[in-house]
Amino acid sequence: MKYDIAIIGGGPAGLMAAERAGELGASVILLEKNSEPGTKLLLTGGGRCNLTNNVQDPRAFVARLGQEAKFLLSALNKFGVIETLEFFQSRALPTRVENDNRVFPLSNRATDVLEVLIKDLKKYQVEIRPESQVKKIITKDDKIVKIVLTDGQEILANNFILATGGKAYPQTGSDGDGYKWLAQFGHTIISPRPSLCPILIEADFIKELEGLSVSEARLNLYQGTKKIVSTDGDIIFTSNGLSGPAALDLSRFIDDEAIKNLSLEVDFLPQFEISALDKKLQQVLKTSSKQIKNSLDGLVMPKFKPVLFKLSLLDGEKKSNVINRAERLALVKLIKSFKLKIKGLAGFDKAMVTKGGANLAEIEPKTMRSKKINNLFICGELLGLAGPTGGYNLQICWTSGYVAGEGAVD
Ligand SMILES: Cc1cc2nc3c(=O)[nH]c(=O)nc-3n(C[C@H](O)[C@H](O)[C@H](O)COP(=O)(O)OP(=O)(O)OC[C@H]3O[C@@H](n4cnc5c(N)ncnc54)[C@H](O)[C@@H]3O)c2cc1C
Repeated sequence: MKYDIAIIGGGPAGLMAAERAGELGASVILLEKNSEPGTKLLLTGGGRCNLTNNVQDPRAFVARLGQEAKFLLSALNKFGVIETLEFFQSRALPTRVENDNRVFPLSNRATDVLEVLIKDLKKYQVEIRPESQVKKIITKDDKIVKIVLTDGQEILANNFILATGGKAYPQTGSDGDGYKWLAQFGHTIISPRPSLCPILIEADFIKELEGLSVSEARLNLYQGTKKIVSTDGDIIFTSNGLSGPAALDLSRFIDDEAIKNLSLEVDFLPQFEISALDKKLQQVLKTSSKQIKNSLDGLVMPKFKPVLFKLSLLDGEKKSNVINRAERLALVKLIKSFKLKIKGLAGFDKAMVTKGGANLAEIEPKTMRSKKINNLFICGELLGLAGPTGGYNLQICWTSGYVAGEGAVD
């Protein structure tokens, strides 16, 4: 049998592509190497699936992703945030907008998001073939003629969609096969790197901070003495570094090659200017006869105190009302600009997405058609696009998957 369309990879991008192609009446086969599609999708948002970010204007949406994301504008105009929300809502999956415009299903269950897609695929008689790992893609004269599975089976189709994901969380199945094939087809692959992943820190006190979680902190990234970017949000110290949304977002700007020149600063209380915090501390300390280690509640988290006193060379047993100006300013400095040396990024095993990937200049933006292989369409995380946390990365999949599915039918 020859299908109209064969899709490799049953993640959010491949599922959406299959949905759209099926809806348009194409005969579609979806090949997934795992025992079920959507393994990574089920992990998203801590199992709640932050399915998009409610930035509805396509221009504002791409502005959050960076320069290269202009590529996505025409696809977003066809199937952007508004259409995605309508898509799920019209399939009995109501959603809710939370802080920072993050959108979740009202049920708080990623399984419900996957179920909506699978139900549609069944309705449109898409053949879902789990445990089908593609081993080879055979081309002739700039066209794919067939794909070969690891068990030797051959799949024939007129058009092919590559949706094998990036390299992040390879334990879910996405281990970089797509890049290898694209390179064979003559596509340029921009070196895939981990992104949205914990930042490793070199400091002898880091283990003492393990578990310290700070809400609404600010992280500043410096190149030499120049501040290059700041992120706001929750952070959590791990045994060897920093995690939490603000740290994950900052990791997008950290490249291994440039690491020697980069340094990180935590502002534990960004709501206070330096002078305002100094004033506040002055008030708190001068009216307290307690030891300083017992006076800073509400301003300094208990877990941070031992490290704070150690680095400021201040004796925590000292009475608060005898702390002098220099000692107080040392505390302010550590609270407002706590310097950390970056050792690296935690790597693909802990990264939520892949930065880099298929060079966008070699892909047709309206349809995701490859400019190298005429009957190939590329979508999802394979594309050289990566967004911050907050639902942007799944939206890239819904949008690119939808237009690829449609493009492969035309
Ligand atoms: C823990 C975690 C939480 C996340 N949370 C969010 C979130 O809340 N919101 C958000 O926007 N983004 C989130 N992301 C990112 C988001 O999940 C990914 O960007 C998205 O899943 C990428 O979709 P994809 O379809 O391109 O690839 P994938 O989801 O990686 O799917 C690719 C599929 O292709 C299959 N495959 C690979 N090679 C082959 C082969 N040779 N043959 C057959 N099949 C193959 C794989 O098994 C896999 O199922 C999260 C990521 C992680 C890891």
